[in-house]
Amino acid sequence: MLVNLKEILKIAEEKKIAIGAFNTPNFTSLHAIISAAEELDLPVIIMHAQVHEEMGLCKMEEVAPMMITAAKAAKVPVCVHLDHGTDLDYVKRGLELGFTGVMYDGSVLPDDENIANTIQTVKWAKEKGASVEAELGSMGAREGGDGEAAKSIYTDPDEAKSFVETTGIDALACAFGTSHGFYTAAPKLDFDRVTKINSLIDVPIVMHGGSGVSVEDYKKVIACGVRKVNYYTYMSKAGAEAINGKTYKQFHDILLDAEKAMKEDVKKAMTVFAGK
Ligand SMILES: [Zn+2]
Repeated sequence: MLVNLKEILKIAEEKKIAIGAFNTPNFTSLHAIISAAEELDLPVIIMHAQVHEEMGLCKMEEVAPMMITAAKAAKVPVCVHLDHGTDLDYVKRGLELGFTGVMYDGSVLPDDENIANTIQTVKWAKEKGASVEAELGSMGAREGGDGEAAKSIYTDPDEAKSFVETTGIDALACAFGTSHGFYTAAPKLDFDRVTKINSLIDVPIVMHGGSGVSVEDYKKVIACGVRKVNYYTYMSKAGAEAINGKTYKQFHDILLDAEKAMKEDVKKAMTVFAGK
């Protein structure tokens, strides 16, 4: 069942849980995630990241129809989301392709430009019945990158309030200690900051860099108001580890083994995000 980001996050708010948001740059990850969600009977967000096109993994025009078809056929609510759209033109194309949620990421731009571009994205999304996530603060390197290599700037609670009110977004990605990619040391999360932001804004908080966070910390941030957790690196790692050191005669057997391992990893993550 295809739903938009606002609708799926409403379910999360009602149940006081977070919805897992996973990147699907290929059929293998798409199958793993949808079947995990159906088995657990939980809503899920599937995402295409602009950077995965830049890395040569998949093109948005090719992957979007596959994602939308899978979402429509699924037995659970599924939002088809554009992750870290950094170019306005790319975000606009995503909305035209039928994404029901888009993240415009202008976090590296000066505030006034980030605000203006986010407002434009909200306008386009509304015309299509889609919802918008935007980012304030910075979590460093993007999906597939090395989180330790880039600087992280924590989200300021008062700026978050004004940003949400000015732009009319549906969800806010905040920086409070997580980063993308692999961690070399356990992340230290600023729970007080999340609680403060949550008390000041009336849209759900999104946590990026979900891989490598402890179960205990997930539970705490969800109690503080996080309603969407972006998770990719460890799912991808689980797929790689499943085939490490094995020899295969058929390529499709590699995909099947990786899919099985990714599905189990996604199920574990979704179970924690759902407070089970
Ligand atoms: Zn992210």
